[in-house]
Amino acid sequence: MKTTRAVVQTAPRKLELRELPVPDIDDDSALLRVEACGICGSDVEQYTGTLPVRLPAIPGHEPLGIIERIGDRAAKRWGVDVGDRVAVETMIPCGHCRACIEGRYQVCRGRGSMFGYSYVPLSHPPGLWGAYADFMYLDPMSLVHRVRKDLPASIAVMFNPLGAGFRWAVEIPDTGPGDIVLILGPGQRGLASVIAARVAGADQIIVTGLTRDAAKLALAKELGADHVINVEEEDARARVREITGGRGADVIVEVSSYAPEPVAESLYYAAMGARIVLAGIKGFKAVPEFVSDLIVAKELVLHGALGVTSRSYRAAIRLIESGRVPLAKMHTHDFALEDAEKAIRTLAGEITGETGIHCCLLP
Ligand SMILES: [Zn+2]
Ligand SMILES: [Zn+2]
Repeated sequence: MKTTRAVVQTAPRKLELRELPVPDIDDDSALLRVEACGICGSDVEQYTGTLPVRLPAIPGHEPLGIIERIGDRAAKRWGVDVGDRVAVETMIPCGHCRACIEGRYQVCRGRGSMFGYSYVPLSHPPGLWGAYADFMYLDPMSLVHRVRKDLPASIAVMFNPLGAGFRWAVEIPDTGPGDIVLILGPGQRGLASVIAARVAGADQIIVTGLTRDAAKLALAKELGADHVINVEEEDARARVREITGGRGADVIVEVSSYAPEPVAESLYYAAMGARIVLAGIKGFKAVPEFVSDLIVAKELVLHGALGVTSRSYRAAIRLIESGRVPLAKMHTHDFALEDAEKAIRTLAGEITGETGIHCCLLP
């Protein structure tokens, strides 16, 4: 094989399917045959141009695939070989900057701006830096996790949203038995947070959403939420007080997209000393009515979250392999590579009559 099909983004809302050369692999790198690529909320932002990415570039940062070729040294260092199925982490750390050395490799900027799959332009050799393709290049600094091969690719590829659930709803806020967890937003990350908080032994899980989220809120209950709140029809502050016996939530995970209001509201839902994790991107809008005195008065901890860490990816992969959670209920759409645009617009809710929760491309 000398060429590969790849979806190239050339401008906001402009994707083209191209045939690109497959690069040679040296001793330290590898070539991945992409089996599936999850469609992320940030893929929508990349597509529309809200998330600035140097273009042209191949999108796709949630790759699951088979090692097609691998250099000897890479095989030794990564502990995988040709034919193995791997989940590939989005970020490609430099390994030497202060963030990397101090254990925060997910915010590494040692190789220029955000360096990870989907975010490196086509002009940077060898070009195949995204998983909306039949084949993807694996840089020597890639982080890969072996995944069992007998699972359907569209389920195994959920390691990414589920990994985010573990990091944002469990690892960062240190969620455990006795904690009341409130999740703002019932998208794929919100639902993944429900699953992770449940596994961590949360006492009660509450999820908020809008009227149009009815199907997602029902699914949240199936996946382990105790209560759901429609913030458009109910007084959410009063409901949280009522459910928690006046205490408020110990852990709040903010994963609603674009709307900044839930960030301000989260301070009212919080118990004394609560941990609030902010992971929903708001298009760099300011938060109106943000009353910082509530942070002081309740000694709240606000923590931003960008991406996933190896520890949470591992937790997600083990949970997927265990078969303990009916993840198929979250998976709504498979798309062919040539339908990448439709896949993104389905997740974005731009296709009438379709509710996309977890969508993936199967090249
Ligand atoms: Zn993602
Ligand atoms: Zn670094």
